[in-house]
Amino acid sequence: MSVFKKIINREIESNIVYEDDLVIAFLDISQATKAHTLVVPKKDYQNIYQLDEKTAGHLFKVVVKISQAIKKAFQPDGLNIVNNNGAVAGQSVFHYHIHIIPRYKGDDFSIKYVNHSQDYSKEDFIKIKETIINSLS
Ligand code: AMP
Repeated sequence: MSVFKKIINREIESNIVYEDDLVIAFLDISQATKAHTLVVPKKDYQNIYQLDEKTAGHLFKVVVKISQAIKKAFQPDGLNIVNNNGAVAGQSVFHYHIHIIPRYKGDDFSIKYVNHSQDYSKEDFIKIKETIINSLS
């Protein structure tokens, strides 16, 4: 059983900030930044590919609601929404969750994006775009 399922079942302690029939939200124990919060569906989805439409829609509404509450409470200078899928992407708990990470000037949180656009021609972009479009539905 995942650590998040244990939190949902109240088998281990956590600091819950929100809960309804479908989702729960609690403080991330690491507090990458102050008020770092996780929003988690109660059902056992491992990753984004397994989420059903109703849960996904509701989950994101809760992410917005909690982000607004954190903004009101702590006045962060910015905020990142992060979701890791797969170990290679940094996932360590295999129960789907979204990180809300408020950002404060001078904090030490980072996500590194590298610009590889020079490796792709205009045709490459079109081919990638079309491949995604053809895979929708
Ligand atoms: P990820 O690496 O995206 O799978 O994120 C998992 C997150 O779960 C990490 O940021 C951990 O700090 C957090 N975490 C692990 N155990 C607990 C716990 N018992 N209570 C709250 N957060 C936890």
